[in-house]
Amino acid sequence: MSEECTSSCETCSSNCSDRTKPESLIEKTNEMSNVKKVIAVVSGKGGVGKSLVTSMMAVLSQRKGFKTAILDADITGPSIPKAFGINQKAAGNESGIFPVETKTGIELMSINLLLENHTDPVVWRGPIIAGTVKQFWTDVIWNEVDYMFVDMPPGTGDVPLTVFQSLPVDGIIIVTSPQELVSMIVEKAVKMAKMMNIPIYGIVENMSYFVCPNCKEQHYIFGKSHIEEITAKYEIKNIAKIPIDAEISSVCDKGLIELFEGDWLNQLSDRIEEC
Ligand code: ADP
Repeated sequence: MSEECTSSCETCSSNCSDRTKPESLIEKTNEMSNVKKVIAVVSGKGGVGKSLVTSMMAVLSQRKGFKTAILDADITGPSIPKAFGINQKAAGNESGIFPVETKTGIELMSINLLLENHTDPVVWRGPIIAGTVKQFWTDVIWNEVDYMFVDMPPGTGDVPLTVFQSLPVDGIIIVTSPQELVSMIVEKAVKMAKMMNIPIYGIVENMSYFVCPNCKEQHYIFGKSHIEEITAKYEIKNIAKIPIDAEISSVCDKGLIELFEGDWLNQLSDRIEEC
């Protein structure tokens, strides 16, 4: 140990033998919880279909017989309960809060299950929002979960950063749209994952194309895709593309996402099992 040692390794650049590892900020789950794998679903900005992809991935995993959960960390724009047609409130006791089960048995926690009125806005500052997400991890009783999908707050700001540091995320799925790729926002999400050393399981380009019901041709409403360029640049193997489809928005609006049909995410879902 050097004579000038202040015992504060965080502020010292010396690589001496007494250096201690940085303290982990990962929070512990409720003692009654058991979550085997955590997959964060992220996007550079809101409205690209992040909640849709989170819901579909969870539905596919549950269909395969895995015990699946969704932690809705998008506190200011929670849309998961609506997609699953859930209107009831979460209950709890002195041991913790119980997630609500969807029709097919997916465990779900969202701020909308706790608010008195689901149209009330959440007008909270960043640390409170991040604290709420942490509590969804620490205070909710997640019962023997194989796969937990986390619908992350959009962007690469303070709240998603805190969530990433607090939850033991095993891998991420990036959701984007053709427009977003042009603006390079998705590259920020890719770089954030790399900086945090979290593997990227795949990228989903949502609203990628539209199939005309008359001529059956694919039309690129938001312009041609640039997804292959990005994935090649960052060596990301899995790409999934979801079309703009009136049936998708219809099942979401009716709360029937568990009935969605379409094989767009099947490969990505299989890949998650291999990782
Ligand atoms: P985000 O979570 O990124 O804010 P959402 O998943 O809530 O976005 O999607 C925003 C809206 O767009 C929802 O009403 C959803 O039903 C609709 N939507 C998303 N993707 C598609 C698609 N591929 N085809 C049709 N509607 C879509």
